[in-house]
Amino acid sequence: MSTSAKHKRAAIIYFPGRIDRKKLDAAVGQALSSLNWEPSLWLPTNHDETGGQQALRAVAQNATHLLIAGGDGTVRSVLDALAREEITGVTIGIIPVGTGNALAKNLKLELSNINVAVKRGLLGNRHEIDLGLAKVIRPDGEREEIHFCVMGGLGLDAKIMQNTNPALKKAIGWVAYFEGGIRSIPTLFERMFVTVDNREPRKLKLVSLLIGNAGWLPGNLSLMPDAKLDDGLLDVAAVGPRRFWNWIDFWGRVAFANENIRPNKIGRQLMDATANVKTLENLTGSRIRVQPERPVHLQLDGDVFGMVSEAEFVVVPRAITFRV
Ligand SMILES: [Mg+2]
Repeated sequence: MSTSAKHKRAAIIYFPGRIDRKKLDAAVGQALSSLNWEPSLWLPTNHDETGGQQALRAVAQNATHLLIAGGDGTVRSVLDALAREEITGVTIGIIPVGTGNALAKNLKLELSNINVAVKRGLLGNRHEIDLGLAKVIRPDGEREEIHFCVMGGLGLDAKIMQNTNPALKKAIGWVAYFEGGIRSIPTLFERMFVTVDNREPRKLKLVSLLIGNAGWLPGNLSLMPDAKLDDGLLDVAAVGPRRFWNWIDFWGRVAFANENIRPNKIGRQLMDATANVKTLENLTGSRIRVQPERPVHLQLDGDVFGMVSEAEFVVVPRAITFRV
């Protein structure tokens, strides 16, 4: 698709129930009022089609500017579909309305004013960003490739997410880690061989291995502050207990308080179980190969993707053009 095409068309891919459709409609109308674009497409997501299919449908109908009103899951679904089809002629804007908005945070987007957010998402400055690609091997030998934008995780973080009550996750977002965490705390450690680019493989004993394309999580939390969306690199954080303690302690201090969430108790259990293990340093590379001793859970951008017996994470440089 040529970017100099005369006709432009916006497609709004939205997570129904999380947006005020009327307000969003008005904001899109206002942003495009003086422009002679084709009529906008409105494509709601649903349980079976989480954004990617809508994006491909929009592109087939000559959409040039995609605006995603959703959280990290919706965004990931759209970006994965575009990257698989190698579609580069469209730009992406985000209206952050989901429970997890880590990508929006990394792009420094906010939703204080819907009109401003829509205008930036459709007509703002172009910003090319990298994607991560997880090439996984399932315990039954099946292979699968999945793109992600913010962060992937192998181990306890993914396991906790897997065990998190979906209704609670929907309601309170990533803080819901804890509720699930209480149930999955007994198996703490995983052992994984980790190979960064062509360096020697290292055997790591850890709680979670995080592979980041971008470093920040909601709530000003970062386990990899140097990670950048456009540096052609993935950042690896091997999460040991001390780091994990900080993570929990952080969430313990967030304003949201739920009497079912007991971060201090979990933290104490972790500290007791793991007092003599040190946090490992962060690593950086463009190709990260992970061979766990036994299958581990995988999460990508906050969504769970089952168990893997091996995974390779590669960076796809400047794969997507955002409007910010
Ligand atoms: Mg990066």
